[in-house]
Amino acid sequence: MVLSLLKSMVTSSRSAATAEAEHSQKGQGAPRVFDFHGGIHPPEHKALSNRAPLVAAPLPREVVLPLSQHIGAPAQPLVEIGQRVKTGELIARAQGMISAPVHASITGVVTAIEPRQIPHVSGLEDLCIVIEREGEIDEWARLEAWRDWRQQEAQDLIQRLQDAGVVGQGGAGFPSAVKARVRERHAIDTLILNAAECEPYITADDLTMRTHPEALIEGLEILASLIGPECILIGIEDNKPEAVIALEQAIRARRADKRLPPLDSRLEVVVVPTKYPSGGEKQLIKLLTDREVPSRGLPADVGVVVHNPGTVRAVQRAVCFGEPMISRVVTLTGEALQHPHNVEARLGTSIADLLRLAAPAPTGIARLVMGGPMMGFTLESDALPIIKTTNCLLASSPESLPAPAVEQPCIRCGMCEQACPAELLPQQLYWFSKAREFDKAELYNLADCIECGACSYVCPSQIPLVQYYRFAKGEIRSAQHEARKSERARHRFEFKQARMAREEAEKEAKRQQRAQAAQKSAAARADASAAADTTSASASTAAAAAQPAPATDIKAFKTARAAANIALKKAEKALKAAQDGGESSESDIAKLEANVTAAKAKLASAESALKAASEASESAAPAAAGASTASSSTTGTAAPAADLKALKTARAAANIAVKKTEKALKTAQDSGEGDISALETSVAEAKARLAKAEADLKAASEASESAAPAAASTSATGAAAPAADLKALKTARAAANIAVKKAEKALKTAQDSGEGDIPALEASVTEAKTRLAKAEGDLKAATDAAGAAQGADKGPVASAAAGSAQTTDTGAAGSTVNAAAPAAAAPSADIKALKTARAAANIAVKKAEKALARASESGEGDIEDLQTLLATAQENLRAAEVRLNSAQAGSTEAPPAAKAAGELIPEAPKPAAGSVGRGSMASNVTLSQAEIEASRAENLAKRHKQVSIAVKAAEAAHRKAEAALSEADDENRQRLATKVDRTRRNLEHARESLAEVQALVDAQ
Ligand code: SF4
Ligand code: SF4
Repeated sequence: MVLSLLKSMVTSSRSAATAEAEHSQKGQGAPRVFDFHGGIHPPEHKALSNRAPLVAAPLPREVVLPLSQHIGAPAQPLVEIGQRVKTGELIARAQGMISAPVHASITGVVTAIEPRQIPHVSGLEDLCIVIEREGEIDEWARLEAWRDWRQQEAQDLIQRLQDAGVVGQGGAGFPSAVKARVRERHAIDTLILNAAECEPYITADDLTMRTHPEALIEGLEILASLIGPECILIGIEDNKPEAVIALEQAIRARRADKRLPPLDSRLEVVVVPTKYPSGGEKQLIKLLTDREVPSRGLPADVGVVVHNPGTVRAVQRAVCFGEPMISRVVTLTGEALQHPHNVEARLGTSIADLLRLAAPAPTGIARLVMGGPMMGFTLESDALPIIKTTNCLLASSPESLPAPAVEQPCIRCGMCEQACPAELLPQQLYWFSKAREFDKAELYNLADCIECGACSYVCPSQIPLVQYYRFAKGEIRSAQHEARKSERARHRFEFKQARMAREEAEKEAKRQQRAQAAQKSAAARADASAAADTTSASASTAAAAAQPAPATDIKAFKTARAAANIALKKAEKALKAAQDGGESSESDIAKLEANVTAAKAKLASAESALKAASEASESAAPAAAGASTASSSTTGTAAPAADLKALKTARAAANIAVKKTEKALKTAQDSGEGDISALETSVAEAKARLAKAEADLKAASEASESAAPAAASTSATGAAAPAADLKALKTARAAANIAVKKAEKALKTAQDSGEGDIPALEASVTEAKTRLAKAEGDLKAATDAAGAAQGADKGPVASAAAGSAQTTDTGAAGSTVNAAAPAAAAPSADIKALKTARAAANIAVKKAEKALARASESGEGDIEDLQTLLATAQENLRAAEVRLNSAQAGSTEAPPAAKAAGELIPEAPKPAAGSVGRGSMASNVTLSQAEIEASRAENLAKRHKQVSIAVKAAEAAHRKAEAALSEADDENRQRLATKVDRTRRNLEHARESLAEVQALVDAQ
């Protein structure tokens, strides 16, 4: 600053009492003037610039308009480079509650929107709009002029101030529209025009008042209409007599103008003694009203609103003439200028251009200051624009600005305290700032320091006290900013924690629901198994119903247990880190401990659910195996194909489970994460289940093979195999063929990838080929037998087929019929049990269909397992229907008495109602087989449809997963890539299933 310049001059101190006495002598009607604490009387130097008239500066060749010429949020550009704009046109709109728009100050073309250095104490750059003038044109884009503004609504007037970009010209550039709304929150009784202009050298307000007093009076009336004060006070220092006279004349003229309504408020000019800083807002309020604005408070808190003359004139121009704020009065002064004066300059004009108007001295400018010598700041360059808050450019000559004196130690003289108008303790603030004890500086109301420089001015030790205060304020602002940022980060963290906890709770609830459903399902299966023990016919139903809990359920429980275990470990780790770090608060630690407790509870719950499901599964398995064995032994035939298939499916599922658990164990061992002991236990359990499944399958296969010769002998001794049996054998051959292909494919995949149990797969291929060979042999034998029978037999069978009731030949034909009758006929109790089995199998199919549809839609779950489950259920249903139909047919063919006695020559059955005489029995038998075939065809068609739907759903799920992966961020990429792999595998399996079903359809 140039305080050293001022301090070189002798100042005189005038007591407040003296000043008050002087003013009281002016007459009884003069308003009373009070005093404020401290203050100084530096040399004024106003005569340098207040003798020349106020003139308009020439239009600049180029203007640079910063988007932040006010306090609050910067404006948002609305123009583009190359766009032509008119004077007064909006080029940047306000954004946010406290902000102001920017308007073009000349007519021209936008040549740049870029960061430029702005006139600020920081010396930093800010975004600016650069406009180059277009010739000599000054084409205006005004708002609507409201000469009769009294007809306008208050809201419209306030909006006009906002639209015109009017901001305070005497301070930090506070938007006037916001100030005009102060009435909404405060009761205002006094409007003050701050015309004190106490800072040395500056005369911009003085010249404004002398040149445009009527505009100021009208501007005050507009503002008064918005805030409704009881009185309007124009506070002006006694060193501006011309301005006082001009204002008083304007007031008298206004009062004499009968065309206008009388003034609502008391309007007075109050002359105050010259003392720096009487132009400070709080100090002027104290001078005029004797009210003290509280620490960190605002003038509105004591019912006062203060405006600057430049601002009031801008209000009047905006309302009455529709002129946005595009210019202002600037004092060009200082000993380095030969023609100091005041100019009305367009905003954005270069300082260098303006200084040239005042004719810089040939010796040059030693220091260029924006503002006055007390509160202004030094500019490093004159290549800067003037903005809405630029009131003075002070150019000092080398002679008038001696080098700053060397700072000396504080001598604790206390002069700074006596000079401080804010009644602070500058010496203490200095110590705290220097020692970086900012909290203590805050405690001593550093925020109330108006940086007037009075303390520095009087300090005999030449200490630049204001510099220390500015430094301390900057540090405090930074700390507060960091604290706010930290607080926001904390809120974000807490919000994230809450969200994660909520999601975890939702997942846990779903897990619990699944666990309960699985327990219910297991209990239902166990009940069905117990009920099925009463009859041999229902044994196969029990075998189907009492299957172990599906592998998908067990898998889900294990996954839930593993997830709960990981969550617990994470929670424990977070708690330990917080406890070790020592930076977390007690409440944070308590929260983390609560998280650990909750995670432990979840783990316990998941483990109990898994245990229950595993037990249910294990208890159901023997029942199924027992039922299967019972069925085989009772009927004396091989285990049904459906049972064998179910056991194979169980073995395959167990094998997959072993592989998965082994893989999970290996991953955990490699990464060092996860509960390795729990995974080892899982592997052991899975292997045990696999061994058991293999043993069950082996036992069932052996039973089937031992029963097969008997069936074959029956076939050999009897007549030719019926057409339906031949078809069944063909289907079995086709299925065996598919199984061979599938096994070969699996073996090839394993060999190519080097993964999987290759010996086991080779054994599977060999096994499948053996089954295929057997199926082909059976089919060949049956075909040969059928051919032989067709050639040799025309009598007895033909007679039976013709429906002869009284055949006389009891030879071969009779034995054929008798051999078939005991096996085919069934008691009514058996038929009832078979019907129940068919209904149960039908329900199982529906459930499996639903589960597959759900999994296909969601893309979650093991589609392959579910498809296998559905196929098994459908096979069971078909088998149940075949058994039922056979039993019903046998019941119809042989009368109960004959079956019970085991007679060789049965009585001919009575014709069924509605049948037509001869051939009715043969017709009945043929119809029953047709029903069976129709049922098979219907089921196959259903399966084909279901698998087709599953393929479409799998395709959709895969597409969806791929789309999600393509848009995924880094955080989710890995997870989504895994999902894409899974959906692709599901799709492949679904397509394979469809191919298999299609082969069966073709074979049919
Ligand atoms: S005026 Fe200067 S020397 Fe005196 S007490 Fe204040 S800081 Fe110290
Ligand atoms: S700069 Fe601050 S501390 Fe110094 S006199 Fe002014 S208000 Fe008081």
